[in-house]
Amino acid sequence: MKLTAEIICVGTELLLGDIVNTNAEYISRALAAIGVDVFYQEVVGDNAERLRGVVSQALSRSDIIITSGGLGPTYDDLTKETVADIMGLSLVRDADTEAAILEFFRKRGIKMTDNNMKQALVPEGCRVLKNSCGTAPGICIENKDKTVVLLPGPPRELTALLDEQVIPLLRAKSPGRVLLSKNINVYGMGESAVEDALRELMLGSANPTLAPYAKDGEVLLRVTASAQTEQAAENMVDDMIQSVRGIIGDYIYGIDCGSLQNALVTKLRRLGKTVSTAESCTGGLVSKRITEISGASEVFGCGICSYSCETKEKVLGVRRETLEKYTAVSAQTAAEMAEGVRRLSGSDIAVSVTGYAGPTGGTPEDPVGTVYIGVATEHSVRAERHTFGRNAAEREYVRYLAASAAISAAIKALDE
Ligand code: ATP
Repeated sequence: MKLTAEIICVGTELLLGDIVNTNAEYISRALAAIGVDVFYQEVVGDNAERLRGVVSQALSRSDIIITSGGLGPTYDDLTKETVADIMGLSLVRDADTEAAILEFFRKRGIKMTDNNMKQALVPEGCRVLKNSCGTAPGICIENKDKTVVLLPGPPRELTALLDEQVIPLLRAKSPGRVLLSKNINVYGMGESAVEDALRELMLGSANPTLAPYAKDGEVLLRVTASAQTEQAAENMVDDMIQSVRGIIGDYIYGIDCGSLQNALVTKLRRLGKTVSTAESCTGGLVSKRITEISGASEVFGCGICSYSCETKEKVLGVRRETLEKYTAVSAQTAAEMAEGVRRLSGSDIAVSVTGYAGPTGGTPEDPVGTVYIGVATEHSVRAERHTFGRNAAEREYVRYLAASAAISAAIKALDE
């Protein structure tokens, strides 16, 4: 029988929106990777009565329950006490944890307060999961058909405990199925267009599944397969990726490659080529995104932030007639900017960006959101026109999408 899990994150600050619930995401992914289905996730505040309600409900319907938070020394840390009470277990002192807490304070020379020793109390008969990153240990309670794991809230502590101790323990309990996912990175196609193109493939496949996630002008397609072995799951995922390639291959820029800039830097390194940038409305964002990738120094020539017409003309060599006749935001200017920075840097390819990020500016023909991307290679110099954003107040969004378009144009230029 397949085990089902439930995740309960405890903390009033989660309910207030003060912190993002990254622990739930992390635990879910880790469980999915070992083939354990997560059917429910809850967030509950630091309140004993409501926590009791949520934990009791979870015990009535799930095989595995993992909680995060509320294991600390203060009065509002209630998870351990509440769970032990519901399960009819008393709290007993754990000598190893007690010694670890004393050692922790001795090493740091900090005075320990009495309530810290509360962390050395554990439900009788539980498995204590030693926490090498903090003082509150994780706790695993196993009775005949339920496994309840209590983990501390700080993500660094929770992830270490989960990866090193909880997952191996649960893997041993789950019936040997492997869940494997790969992400297909798609650029240049909207989410609805992707869904439309892949509708039949999506509807027709329960294993592997194919699910789209849209983010910042890109679409991520997650392919997930469940199989007896890792190799079998990988083959199923790769077959699905091939099918997707057959339909929208032109828009795929990578598999599990994280970002457009990562794809660009990886490709440049593989080909032994270099890129340079000339930016106006993105103010250096393209070069920032390229240089945030480790290894960019091998492939990035230079980035010129040519915001003013004077710089476009004096540094990049954009002709004055071009600026006067077509304006700074035009295909002609974008092309000459790219050509100029390529000449200046001696790089293999160059891209440029000029446009109206808003909220002011723009013309009737080229309203706010219009951006020209120039591309120069040893074979050609050209520019493409894009329109980004839905209203004039989306300055940052327009700039981000313009930078993405420039990076994508550079990736494509490498295929010439
Ligand atoms: P401690 O021993 O540090 O008191 P704890 O188990 O009592 O740990 P909490 O006090 O609930 O945990 O949370 C400690 C911190 O961990 C929070 O302030 C927050 O920064 C982070 N945290 C808690 N829960 C989550 C969560 N679900 N996702 C991300 N971060 C979290």
